[in-house]
Amino acid sequence: MSNKALQAVRGMNDLLPDAVVLWQRIEETARMVFSSYGYREIRFPLVEKTELYARAIGQVTDIVEKEMYTFADRNGESLTLRPEGTAGCVRAGIENGLFYNQVQRLWYAGPMFRHERPQKGRYRQFHQIGVETYGMEGPDIDAELILLTARLWRALKLDHLSLQINSLGTPECRTRYRQELVAYLESRRDALDEDSLRRLSTNPLRILDSKNPSMEAVISQAPRLLEYLDEASSAHFGQLQKYLDQAGLSYQVNPRLVRGLDYYTRTVFEWVSDKLGAQGTACAGGRYDGLVEQLGGKPTPAVGFALGLDRLVELVDQQALSPPATLHAYISVSGQGAEAQGLRLAESLRDVGLKAQLHCGGGSLKSQLKKADQSGAVYALLLDSAKSVIEIKPLRTQEPQQALPLDDVGHYLTARLLNI
Ligand code: ATP
Ligand code: MG
Repeated sequence: MSNKALQAVRGMNDLLPDAVVLWQRIEETARMVFSSYGYREIRFPLVEKTELYARAIGQVTDIVEKEMYTFADRNGESLTLRPEGTAGCVRAGIENGLFYNQVQRLWYAGPMFRHERPQKGRYRQFHQIGVETYGMEGPDIDAELILLTARLWRALKLDHLSLQINSLGTPECRTRYRQELVAYLESRRDALDEDSLRRLSTNPLRILDSKNPSMEAVISQAPRLLEYLDEASSAHFGQLQKYLDQAGLSYQVNPRLVRGLDYYTRTVFEWVSDKLGAQGTACAGGRYDGLVEQLGGKPTPAVGFALGLDRLVELVDQQALSPPATLHAYISVSGQGAEAQGLRLAESLRDVGLKAQLHCGGGSLKSQLKKADQSGAVYALLLDSAKSVIEIKPLRTQEPQQALPLDDVGHYLTARLLNI
């Protein structure tokens, strides 16, 4: 047997502690924004029956056609690692009676799995934060969701994301439009690329979303879905735009914006960045009024979005803001019995809300101080059991070194570190 070290699965990344600090900052900010709108977290499994995704997402979508991690479990049942969260959220909502005579405002976060070609901003295990609402059919909730995302960008100090919106109407008007679109594309068959030819019979709307520059001309002359909208969908879309105008939010109506998933109706929206290269969509969402019923629940209007956390982390990282201190104090120990005093000191600091790490494993003072510096701590605390005071050595600032009795250290540090 080969003794070669094993490697991670392609497209599935380790997130190391230095990077995780940034992920946590974004996750915490999102959590605060969501709770300020009264949204509550839901958690559902990473694995579901394959049939759920086949039924919810649609057989002819990229995801179900070629991206799912599907396997037979030990009983031979076909299961799939979740490629997105909406299907699982709806399944959990129906199964637990969350949609009966009530509205729900929910969010979730976690890894998703799709077997795609890995590249910058596109991975096989990636992470989404999703928000889903149920039981509200008007454009007011669509507007609320968009305002919520805008607030999240402000909280993360991202000021360059741009909003695109469109309406897909009802399944009925989409069927009419689909016929017109296919007729048009058939007439331009020679100009279609291989992907589009394949989609022509399976998922022609998705051709509008093609990222191939050679398709640009054909697509720009295609009939427009917005002209096929039924009256109620038009009114819904018009009112959404009014709400956004009133909120002072700028947006662009993009008639080519379609979603890859079959279950969308009426409003769709995306937040796009020009700082992400080819994978520029940071957040995508829309209304899916038919899905709950399609999965066996009572008819329930729904609208939601998912944001690509990996891409958002990349954007926040580009700002190069200095990270918050991960550790307040690193305690070095020297002298007989110093470890016991160190354990006690570290606990007393944590009692007053400080983040403290005790040096374990011995070594010279010099090597311990090196570790203190590497730890990112704001102060090194030098504990020597032969002395009655602790030396407090600032590691990041020019303030003078202090010596204080053990019992005063906590107060000294909290006064400097916790009221900023
Ligand atoms: P695309 O057209 O880029 O494949 P999609 O329509 O498949 O996007 P959604 O299913 O709407 O994407 O997912 C919502 C968001 O999740 C995307 O806008 C993106 O930010 C992120 N996302 C989707 N797939 C991946 C992936 N493989 N790696 C990283 N992020 C992803
Ligand atoms: Mg995709």
